[in-house]
Amino acid sequence: MGNDIIYLDNNATTQIDPTVVEEMLPFLTENYGNPSSGYRFGQRVNDALEIARARVAGLLGCEPGEILFTSCGTESSNTAIHSALQMDRDRQHIVTTRVEHSATLKTCEGLAKRGYAVTWLGVNSEGQIDLGELERAVTDETALVSIMWANNETGVTFPIEKISEIVRAKGAVFHTDAVQTIGKLPVKLDAMKVNFLSLSGHKLHAPKGVGVLYVNRRTKFFPFVTGGGQENGKRAGTQNVASIVALGKACEIAAQNIAHEATEVRAMRDEFENAILAKVPGAQVNGDRINRLPNTTSLAFSGTESEAMLMLLDQQGLCCSAGSACTTGQHEPSHVLRAMGFDDTRARGSLRFSFGRFNTHAEVARALELVPQVVEKVRRVTAA
Ligand SMILES: *Cc1c(COP(=O)(O)O)cnc(C)c1O
Repeated sequence: MGNDIIYLDNNATTQIDPTVVEEMLPFLTENYGNPSSGYRFGQRVNDALEIARARVAGLLGCEPGEILFTSCGTESSNTAIHSALQMDRDRQHIVTTRVEHSATLKTCEGLAKRGYAVTWLGVNSEGQIDLGELERAVTDETALVSIMWANNETGVTFPIEKISEIVRAKGAVFHTDAVQTIGKLPVKLDAMKVNFLSLSGHKLHAPKGVGVLYVNRRTKFFPFVTGGGQENGKRAGTQNVASIVALGKACEIAAQNIAHEATEVRAMRDEFENAILAKVPGAQVNGDRINRLPNTTSLAFSGTESEAMLMLLDQQGLCCSAGSACTTGQHEPSHVLRAMGFDDTRARGSLRFSFGRFNTHAEVARALELVPQVVEKVRRVTAA
């Protein structure tokens, strides 16, 4: 496995950087002390946690004390939502969007069933929300506004700086799911009005099962996972040390590579996208092409079925996706593309390709041979 694969699904997960693996290995072997133990064998491990915390803070442009390690992006978002709802009993209203990842979407649906008021902001055909509508939606009763920074399916980015200012002016708490943004776009949290931000290790070349919640130092916080006093009393449970060390290293590398993402990775995405648009009649890009991650393209192929295309591409070793990985297999059209006003046919005939720094131009060239062939084949079968 691995060698003959063309992996164009970097928004689902990423390859762990070999340097990151090297950094974490000693914490799976000789450095097995508990970071909460008082002796030096434990404290040495605790020192490694603090180095990782500082590296994450460096990438985010915030203080190390604002970094809370969790088990994944999903836990980070659940924690932020849970905390915001404890802050003020008079505020029990949530504002979010119809295009969030299921980590936010399902959590808010569950809260709505339990009696919380939830306002779901729609998006236009470009995948953008209306800032006037957002401003009107936030009231004295709004506890939390949770809006993702970049969409995992289309790569469309929301103007988070402006959004955070609108929410702050209304006195509500603001959380952003930045799982797809961190490592791809530069972020400077100290200059922003964000209360909570979620990120996930496995989306930026660190292992699965580790995440971060940024908690602004002036924001009141209520723990989600309770028990021991780890993470300054904010998240109980012995830390996943090796993965946290890995995430720290991945953030350090990401900080050095951010310009590369914006140029080399973007160049591969653009080369692929432009060639597909030129080669495949009727192919269209889903969503805003300007305000977008540098690595993602969501493409609609009229007269096709994504399930059939994915199967044929898989046979050739090409990995990409229809909708998000979490909804694949359910044969439901993407909730993101539906929210953008596209009908079921367009939503079902779309594929997402997401690039990363381990991809090569040779892989892009191979994908450019395979994808048009597969689209044509599925079109012939569908038409027959
Ligand atoms: C992958 C992803 C998540 C979930 O992160 P996990 O670490 O897998 O729980 C949340 N939001 C977005 C936008 C994602 O792409």
